[in-house]
Amino acid sequence: METTLVLLKPDTVQRGLIGQIISRFENKWLKIVWLKMISLSEDIVNEHYDFLMDKPFFPKIKSYMTSSPVVALVLAWTDVVKTVRNLTWATNPSDALPGSIRWDFALTIDANIIHASDSRETAAIEVKRFFKEDEITSYEKISDKIVG
Ligand code: ATP
Ligand code: MG
Repeated sequence: METTLVLLKPDTVQRGLIGQIISRFENKWLKIVWLKMISLSEDIVNEHYDFLMDKPFFPKIKSYMTSSPVVALVLAWTDVVKTVRNLTWATNPSDALPGSIRWDFALTIDANIIHASDSRETAAIEVKRFFKEDEITSYEKISDKIVG
């Protein structure tokens, strides 16, 4: 089954939205395989958003992402990378589709609630960045029989 990495960003934690966002995944039948709350170091933010390091808004991203813990999840399902990006939608919440997570909850392009991997290749790297192999939980969910 394909996997993807999600981070529920500091504003999700501070605004008490963790449960509502996770419900979106559960309602869509996505399987939660790993989940933890962590405080991000500056080093991991530098690595995670290294492609934005030269942007003028990078310092703002860094202070935002380290301002409070985040919730990291690995979700599994067929086509899960695309599915979660569609649930999340555009970086700027004003471009997001009504009903998507960013449309419904995000305040600004900076405080946009959630990170979701943008390709299978990125997802494989990002899962390893946030979760060690020995953190893997293995369980059977009833929906596994449908996906195979
Ligand atoms: P994420 O990687 O967090 O899921 P994304 O894939 O939609 O978001 P990216 O292009 O990867 O968007 O940008 C990473 C983060 O950098 C965005 O979530 C946003 O907070 C910030 N960012 C991107 N572009 C801008 C911008 N033009 N102005 C301010 N912040 C931006
Ligand atoms: Mg991105």
